[in-house]
Amino acid sequence: MTAGENVDPEEIEKFNDLAHRWWDTDGDFKPLHDINPCRLSYIQEKADLAAGPTLDVGCGGGILAESIARLGFETTGIDMAEKALGVAKLHALESDVNVRYEASTAENFALGHAEQFTTVTCLEMLEHVTDYGETIKACAQLAQPGADLFFSTINRDPRAYVLLILGAEYVLNMLPRGTHEYSKFIKPSELAAGIREAGLELQEIRGMSYNPLTRKAALNNNTTANYIVHAKKPATL
Ligand code: SAH
Repeated sequence: MTAGENVDPEEIEKFNDLAHRWWDTDGDFKPLHDINPCRLSYIQEKADLAAGPTLDVGCGGGILAESIARLGFETTGIDMAEKALGVAKLHALESDVNVRYEASTAENFALGHAEQFTTVTCLEMLEHVTDYGETIKACAQLAQPGADLFFSTINRDPRAYVLLILGAEYVLNMLPRGTHEYSKFIKPSELAAGIREAGLELQEIRGMSYNPLTRKAALNNNTTANYIVHAKKPATL
């Protein structure tokens, strides 16, 4: 890792330490497993995954990347947590699914892969980087003109603090304590501004609810906690 990179080393260490638990659907990453069908079907509804390759930025152990590849679409996942990537590679191999994984930030990957992807996803990752605006810009560079991009994160709203930090980390012990830092949560208006600054066109913002008891997730219009954004890179004329 070189100085000045848009990476928070403590965050990467946290995800490396948890890497071996990534595919335990009842473990620390249970919520990501539970919400994955909901976010995957949203992506499928809004993007044409058959149009070209998909890039998953901050893919971790590959929950989303593998689920896209399993549908038969060309998929690459990048992440800075090498142990998480090791787990992702092994799991893809065991599941006989073809996903390309590389250890990289979005910024570095964009240097060699500009405008190569027709779909770019960056889910539950922006609240873990140092400068999310830079990550969004790099995602925009990686996207082909006309591409679909998806970002999801958590709103910096007191209700998200109660639900995700007090509730999930401290009361339910559903997430490891310290998973989230309230100050790094992002308001939808801030994410929308970052999207515009990256030259992307915002299409839609949807809230996402998750019920840990039924283990079901759904999209709605309540963006006070988790939410997902669909954006497009303008097509060249
Ligand atoms: N997107 C996955 C994993 C989310 S967890 C999913 O939703 O299923 C957040 C991931 O972002 C972790 O794997 C962490 O290692 C990664 N990450 C954090 N900062 C990063 C950075 N600067 N570059 C690349 N990956 C990063």
